[in-house]
Amino acid sequence: MYAEDDLLPISALQHLAFCERRCALIHLEGLWDDNVFTVEGQLLHERAHEELVESRRDLRLSRGLRLHSLRLGLVGQADLVEFHRLPDETSPEPCAHGPPGARLPGLPGDWRPYPVEYKRGKPKPDICYEVQLCAQALCLEEMLGASVPAGALYYGQPRRRQEVMLTATLRAHTESLALRLHELIRAGQTPPAEYGKHCRNCSLLELCLPQCASGKRSARRYLRQAMQDALAPEGNA
Ligand code: SF4
Repeated sequence: MYAEDDLLPISALQHLAFCERRCALIHLEGLWDDNVFTVEGQLLHERAHEELVESRRDLRLSRGLRLHSLRLGLVGQADLVEFHRLPDETSPEPCAHGPPGARLPGLPGDWRPYPVEYKRGKPKPDICYEVQLCAQALCLEEMLGASVPAGALYYGQPRRRQEVMLTATLRAHTESLALRLHELIRAGQTPPAEYGKHCRNCSLLELCLPQCASGKRSARRYLRQAMQDALAPEGNA
C-alpha cells in the first residue's frame, strides 16, 4: 500500500505505455508541448467534466469523479463513470473481481460502475488508452468494492464509443506499468531516446530530439546547452 503523498497520476501510465522517455520528460522534467491536438484534447476533457452528476432511470452518470488506488499508488479523475442498476435477480455471488455491483448512497439496489474515457482522436494501434481506462477501473474496484468488467473509450473522430473488456491480461499489464512508473519516478532519471515509428506521433518530438546522439541526454540539459551555445560570444567553442 502506498501513502497518499506517494500517489502518481493515472494519466502518466498512458505516457509510460507509449514511451518511458516521454513519461519521464513530462513527469520528471516537467516538459509539455501544447499543440493543436493536446489543446483540443484538453477542451474535450473539460467539456466532459462540465456537469457533475446526472440521473436517468436505472442509470446514474458521474462526471469528473476523483479516483485513487492505494494498492497501485495512483490518483486521477474519470471523465465519466456510468452506474448501471443491476436487475434485482442478479446473483449476489461475487464475480471475478468482486461483487457485481456497488451500493450508492440513498439509492436502492446494486449499481455496476462503467468508466468512459474521452479521447480527441481516433482509435490507436497501441493499448495506451486501454491501460489508462483499466487503471481507472482498478481504482473504482478498490474504492467501491465492486467488479468493473468493462469500460469504454469515446473517440472524437469519428464520434463513437468503443467498449473495452478489462481482461486479466490487460489488468496484469496495467499493474506492472504502475509498478514501473513508481520505479521510474523514484530513480529520477530520464531514459535515453529510442527513435521509432511512434516518435512521429509524439508531441514532444522536437523537445526530445530522438534522432540526435544527444537523445541520450536529458532534454532539459540539451536545451540549456543549445541556448548557452547560441548566446556564447563568437569564437567560443
Ligand atoms: S520523440 Fe520518441 S523517444 Fe522521444 S519521447 Fe517521444 S516517443 Fe519517446
